[in-house]
Amino acid sequence: MAHAAWDGTAVCRVAHPAVCPADPTQRPDGLLREVLLRYRTLMNIRMDKHHWVPDLHPAHPTTPTAAAEPQARHVVLLLSILYLAEGEITDIRCVAQTKAGERCRSALAHGDPGFWIEHPIQDAGRSTLSADLVGTPMLVYSLQSLSWDEQLRWRDQRCEVHGSGEVPALAASAWESFDPFLHVDHVRRPKGYWEGTAAPKPYRPPY
Ligand SMILES: [Zn+2]
Ligand SMILES: [Zn+2]
Repeated sequence: MAHAAWDGTAVCRVAHPAVCPADPTQRPDGLLREVLLRYRTLMNIRMDKHHWVPDLHPAHPTTPTAAAEPQARHVVLLLSILYLAEGEITDIRCVAQTKAGERCRSALAHGDPGFWIEHPIQDAGRSTLSADLVGTPMLVYSLQSLSWDEQLRWRDQRCEVHGSGEVPALAASAWESFDPFLHVDHVRRPKGYWEGTAAPKPYRPPY
């Protein structure tokens, strides 16, 4: 890094192992030498004036972390309809407007409002769904054991405080009608189901 070189300056700040004009093993000639010298001079000037700080470390290889994973979304059985939730059941937040005019964001779930069941994947009239999927079990979080009013509160995405009454919502509820074709990435299988098998992909007919 700190080679004296033939442009008269003592320090070379061309990133090594980029071509260094001061490295005797790779002393370039002609135009390349001119370009490198000019680059080196400009770089030294800019760095000496603290105008530019290079990142000499290679970019860290991106290691997948839990935070970088797409958010898990639960499939929920509610009012006899399968929905894809905006997140995990415990992440669902109230959409009602508070007296302060802000979105409530209280959790809807206290403890375990429902339980996991195995539910067969139905093709919902789509010929495009792989035979590997149709009729096979997926895990669904069922809220069917709640009272009808409680299920309505869940579908309207209201906390217990805002479940009743005419409090306006500041956001639309985020339930999506579950579609096994569109939402296959969110299908969770019963424990052990995948052992030794690759996850089937939605089948697309070859025409
Ligand atoms: Zn609320
Ligand atoms: Zn999706």
